[in-house]
Amino acid sequence: MKSKNRFTKARKALLEVLKDRHLTFKEIQKELTLLGFHNVSTLYNNLEFFMNNGMIIEFDIDGTKYYDLGSDNPYHKNDNHLHFVYKNPETKETVIEEFDVPDVYELIKSYAALKGFKTEYIRILVSGKKIGKK
Ligand SMILES: [Zn+2]
Repeated sequence: MKSKNRFTKARKALLEVLKDRHLTFKEIQKELTLLGFHNVSTLYNNLEFFMNNGMIIEFDIDGTKYYDLGSDNPYHKNDNHLHFVYKNPETKETVIEEFDVPDVYELIKSYAALKGFKTEYIRILVSGKKIGKK
């Protein structure tokens, strides 16, 4: 049986593009095009492949989907990170930051209601608005 290379060049490029960033589909597409990967259906397939094995996660902010490297990913060591999102008051751009808060995740995992389950993922999204000075 011939084994197919799971990490084609296009897949590697996709992981590279998402390194330390959170991007929308369009942004990923734009970055990959710059790298010479133009095939949109390949991108769809590769995203699906990585989402199925947990290497890429998808999350929604106000109806826009963002992609991020999942916790099982060697490219993304932060196993216990939450996302904090806010709008830059000047540029109006959505800013996504990640924080490492392992204690919170351990606390959640220890909840009685989760006993008898193996947690697959915990996704925390915190949204905030900058408070103006008085
Ligand atoms: Zn993230």
